[in-house]
Amino acid sequence: MKAVQFLTFLLLCLSFQAYSQLSPSSQTRLIAVTIDDAPHNGPIGSLVELALMTKKFTETLKSQKIPAVVFVNEGQLYYSADDIEEKIAILRSWIGSGIELGNHTFGHVGLKDTPLEAYQDDFIRGEVVSRRIASESKTPLRYFRHPFLQMGPTRDIEELFEAFLAKRAYRSVPITLTTEDWMFLPAYQKAKDATEKKRISDDYLSFAEADVAYREKAANRMFGRPIPHILLVHANAVTADNLTRLIEMYQSRGYKFISVEEALKDPAYANPEKYSPTSDWLRGWSISKAIQFDPPQPPEYIRAAATSQ
Ligand SMILES: [Zn+2]
Repeated sequence: MKAVQFLTFLLLCLSFQAYSQLSPSSQTRLIAVTIDDAPHNGPIGSLVELALMTKKFTETLKSQKIPAVVFVNEGQLYYSADDIEEKIAILRSWIGSGIELGNHTFGHVGLKDTPLEAYQDDFIRGEVVSRRIASESKTPLRYFRHPFLQMGPTRDIEELFEAFLAKRAYRSVPITLTTEDWMFLPAYQKAKDATEKKRISDDYLSFAEADVAYREKAANRMFGRPIPHILLVHANAVTADNLTRLIEMYQSRGYKFISVEEALKDPAYANPEKYSPTSDWLRGWSISKAIQFDPPQPPEYIRAAATSQ
C-alpha cells in the first residue's frame, strides 16, 4: 500500500513539473489590445459609417471575449454641433461591449511641443464626458495614452506628468506592437473597388505579422524572454474591416488575449535606465540597452499615400 501511495505521489510530482514547464508565464504568448483616437481615426464620411465601423470593433471583441481599452479624443465630439449626442452614444457603445475608455487628451496634442501646463489642461478637458459615462456604467477611467507616442521631452517633464497622472489614479500605457493602420487608412479609403481594398487588406495583415515577428525577437534580445505585448491599433475602417483576420493572425502565432492591467504587471513595463521620450516601449528599451531596433515599415505605396494626405 505504501509503495502505491509513493508511486501516486511521484506521478503527481512529475505531472506538476510538466505543468510548470507549460505554465502560461513560460509558454503562452500574451497580448493586450488598445485602440486609439476614438470616436474615429482619420476622416469618417457620416455618422452611419462611424456607427458601422465602431460596431465591427465592439461586436468582434465582445463575441471573442477580448478585453480592450479605447483611448478617446473628446475634442472630436464637438467637430459639429449637430451630432454631439450621437458621438457620445458611440462612446457609450464601446463601454456597453465591455471595453474600457481611456484618455488620449482633448485635442490629440503632443507633449514634445506642448508646455506641460497646457498639456495637463488638455488632459483634464479630455476626460469630462468619458468620466461621466464611465461612472454611469460603473467602469473605471484609469489609462492614458500619449498622442503620437510622445512622452515628455525630458525625464523631468515626464516624471512631473506621471505624478500628475498618479494623483488622478491614471497610468500611462505604452505600446510594443503596431499595425501602422493609420498609415494604411488613406490608401484604403481611396481604393477604387473591392479588389484594391482586398490587396491593401492583405498587405496590412502581412505587415502586422512582420511587425510582431520582428518585435518578438527584439523583446527576447532585450529581456531574455517573451514579454506580454500591448498592441496599438486605431478606431478606423482598415482595422475594423480586418479585425477578425488580425486576431486570427495573432492566435495562429500562439497568442492569448489579456487585459492591459494584466500586461502592465510585467516588469518589462518598468522604465528603462536611460530615458527616451517615446511610449513605443521596445524602441525606448533598445536605446537604453544599445540594442539595434529597426522594425519593418509598411510598403512604399502605403507610405506615399499617407504622406500625400
Ligand atoms: Zn492618437
